Amino acid sequence: MKKITVISGKGGTGKTTLVSNLAYLAEDLVLADCDVDAPNLHLLLNPEVEETNIFKSNKLAIKDESKCIDCGICNEVCRFNAVSPVNYEIDPYKCEGCGVCVEMCPENALSLKLMETGEIYNSTTRFGPMVHANLKVGSDNSGKLVSEVREKAVEKGNKIDKDLLLIDGSPGIGCPVISSITGVDLVLFVTEPSRSGFSDLKRVAQVIEHFEIPALAVINKYDINKDISQEIVEYLKENEIELVGKISYSSLVVENLRNAELVVEQEKKSKVSQEIINIWKKIKTNIK
Ligand code: SF4
Ligand code: SF4
Repeated sequence: MKKITVISGKGGTGKTTLVSNLAYLAEDLVLADCDVDAPNLHLLLNPEVEETNIFKSNKLAIKDESKCIDCGICNEVCRFNAVSPVNYEIDPYKCEGCGVCVEMCPENALSLKLMETGEIYNSTTRFGPMVHANLKVGSDNSGKLVSEVREKAVEKGNKIDKDLLLIDGSPGIGCPVISSITGVDLVLFVTEPSRSGFSDLKRVAQVIEHFEIPALAVINKYDINKDISQEIVEYLKENEIELVGKISYSSLVVENLRNAELVVEQEKKSKVSQEIINIWKKIKTNIK
């Protein structure tokens, strides 16, 4: 099974819109929404959830009040200020689960507990299975959740013999995006012609180069600033990243988005749909 991750330096570049339109063109695939901090793919593909799994990752110190003798050692040793100096209660929002207080408590009153930090869904869409997730507000470890989502999507795809896994990757250059691109066959970078979009492209290109993953690029809404688009084109050429297409700004995309519909499906003959169709053709030749 070939794996493609679509990424962008930040949100709002049209990454998820492109993923859902590519899913329509690919027809028969497995999808994974690895943008677990702000998942949106489900809004466009309307998946039917078949199975929900609890995701546990963050550790939290829990106190057994019946054993506590109020010695205050836990407050002294906690460098995250997670233990109240008054009643030695643990603040769940400050506790980093380092376990130091657990080790130091003379009465064994403290223990670490894995906390539920999200949910992972196995779903079906009209284009094939989709694995997606929901990270609880305030939870971290989204890199770990991204890995779980990917793993489950690969498992599903192998089980039903699919040829393609299309991943809606996480934005940025941190741990979640690295989890969504490592080991894939191809990264598709979606950028836009703005100064911030361009600098994000440069930062992510370094990450992709470091991991030696073949990369292609798309400039979305290229005509809203043709000068910056041209700079991006030159940068891509210098860095040997193939530009597989430029997508023009179109109100049709916005209108379709508003109705949770796909422009390539509703407006097949439009200029923007033809641009996306051509991008898909070029991607296909790169993953053969
Ligand atoms: S170190 Fe243990 S016994 Fe002492 S206050 Fe903390 S929980 Fe209670
Ligand atoms: S587990 Fe670490 S962060 Fe949490 S209360 Fe104990 S010492 Fe503080």
